[in-house]
Amino acid sequence: MSYRNFLAGRWVDGDAVLAVEDPATGETVAEAPVAGDRTLAVALDAARASVDRGDMSSIVPHRRADLMRRIAREIREVTAEGAEVLTRESGKRLSDARGEFEEAAAYFDYYGGMADKMEGKQIPLGPDYVDYTVLEPVGVSAQIVPWNFPVSLAARSLAPALATGNAVIVKSPELDPLGLIVLARAIEAAGVPEGAVSILNGVGSDFGAKLVASTRIDQIVFTGSVPTGQAILRAAAWNVTPSLMELGGKSAAIAFDDADLAALLDSVRSGIFFNAGQVCSAMSRLLVHRSLYVRAVEACAALADGLTPGHGLDEADHTPVISDRQLQGIVAMVDRARSEGATTAAGGGRLDRVGHFMAATVLSDVSPDAAIAREEVFGPVLSMMPFDTEDEAIRIANGTDFGLVAGVFTQDLSRAHRVAARLRAGQVFINEWFAGGISTPFGGVGKSGFGREKGIEALYNYVRTKNVAIRLRR
Ligand code: NAD
Repeated sequence: MSYRNFLAGRWVDGDAVLAVEDPATGETVAEAPVAGDRTLAVALDAARASVDRGDMSSIVPHRRADLMRRIAREIREVTAEGAEVLTRESGKRLSDARGEFEEAAAYFDYYGGMADKMEGKQIPLGPDYVDYTVLEPVGVSAQIVPWNFPVSLAARSLAPALATGNAVIVKSPELDPLGLIVLARAIEAAGVPEGAVSILNGVGSDFGAKLVASTRIDQIVFTGSVPTGQAILRAAAWNVTPSLMELGGKSAAIAFDDADLAALLDSVRSGIFFNAGQVCSAMSRLLVHRSLYVRAVEACAALADGLTPGHGLDEADHTPVISDRQLQGIVAMVDRARSEGATTAAGGGRLDRVGHFMAATVLSDVSPDAAIAREEVFGPVLSMMPFDTEDEAIRIANGTDFGLVAGVFTQDLSRAHRVAARLRAGQVFINEWFAGGISTPFGGVGKSGFGREKGIEALYNYVRTKNVAIRLRR
C-alpha cells in the first residue's frame, strides 16, 4: 500500500518519506509522505485561490449541508480500512480506531446540519438606518493535529470550517498520519471542490512551523502540547493571526465520601487507561475523601493490575504508548514521583515485552506539590491523593497551570453543582468521566488553551462578523 499526500484535490508524493512504526511491535507499517516547501507553496496558493473563488462559501447553504453529509457517508465507507491502519500506526484498539472514524463522520453530519442555519442579526438604529450583520468565513484555516486521536480531532475542526465556507490545510501528525490519508479519500469521493482541502503530512518543526508562520493563512487551529502552542502563538503574534489553542491538561476527579465506587471505577478505567492514557482530558489525578481513600486505592490498583496488554488489533484492554521516546518520558516521571514520596500501588514501569508498553500505573499518596501532580504525563498513570474537606479538594484540583476538564463523584446534587461552579475547567463531568460528546463545547482554561471546539459554539470560530450600516434618508 503506498500513501500519498492529498494536495488540493490531487494525490502527490512527499518531498521525502518517513517510516511509520507499529508501537505494539516496532515493525514498519508503511512509509508516509513528508511534505516540504514546494508542497506548502502549492497548498497555500490553492487554498487562497479557493477562498477567492468562493469555492465553498458560494455553495448555497443547504447544498453545502448536503456536501457535508456526503462526506459523512464517504467516511463511513472507508471506516473499516481506515480503522485498521490507524490501529497499526497508533497502537490503539481497533474498536477505538473505528470509533474515531465514526466520530469523524458524526462531526460532518452535525455541522452539516448547521451549514444553513448560521444567521446574522438586524440591529435597530432608528428610522433613518438599516443595520445588519453578516457571518463571513474566516478564509484559509491552517489546522495542526496531534497524534493521539488524529482522525476525530482533524474532523472536529475540519467539519465546522467547511460547513461555514472556508478552505482548510490540515497538517497531519508525523507519528501516525496514515488514517488521515484514508479520511482524505472520503473527502475526495464526496466531491469537495479542489483547493478547498489539503491534508498533508509534514514534520512539525519544519512544515508545521512554516505553515503557521505564513502570511497567507487567516487562522490557526492548533491541538497539541503547551510548548508547541507557545511557539505557534509567537508566530501568530508576529502576523496577528487569529488562533485557537487546544492544549494539554492535568485534570482531576474528586470522589466524595458518598461516591458510587463502581461508577467511579468505570470512569477510572476509561478516564486514565483508555488509549493508554494518551488523552488530553485524561483523569490524571484522583482526589478521594479520606473515608474512602484506602478502599479506592486498592480498587484502582486491582483494576490496573487486571488489564491485559496486547495488540490493538486483538482488542487488548491495555495498548502501547505511541513511541519509545514517549515511554521513556513517562517512566522518568514515575521514577521522579517515587523520589518525591509517591507509593506505587500498581505498575510503575515499562512492561517487559516487545513494543512501547507502559504498565497501567497507580500512584498513591501523591503530594499535590509533586511534579507528577502538576505536569501532564500523557500515559496510563493515575495519581491518587486523599482530602478531608470540600475546600481542600477544590484547592488541590484547581492548583495546576492547566484547566481542561474536571470531575465530581457524589450522590449529593447540591454539592455537585456547588463544586462544579468552583472548578477551574472548560468541562465538568458529574458521576461519569467523558460525559458529553460532539455537541458539548470543549476547551481549556489557563495553559490548557483558549477557544471552544465541539458544539454549535465552535462554528463561530470559523466565521467573523461584518456589520453593514445603511443610511436610508437625510
Ligand atoms: P505536539 O505539540 O508535539 O504536536 C502537535 C502537532 O504540532 C503535531 O502535528 C506536530 O507535528 C506539530 N508541531 C510540532 N512543532 C510544531 C511547530 N513548531 N509549529 C507547528 N506545528 C508543530 O503534541 P503531541 O505530542 O502530538 O500531542 C500531545 C499533546 O496534545 C498533549 O499535550 C495533549 O494534551 C494535547 N492534546 C490536546 C487536545 C485538546 O483538545 N485540548 C486534544 C488532544 C491532544
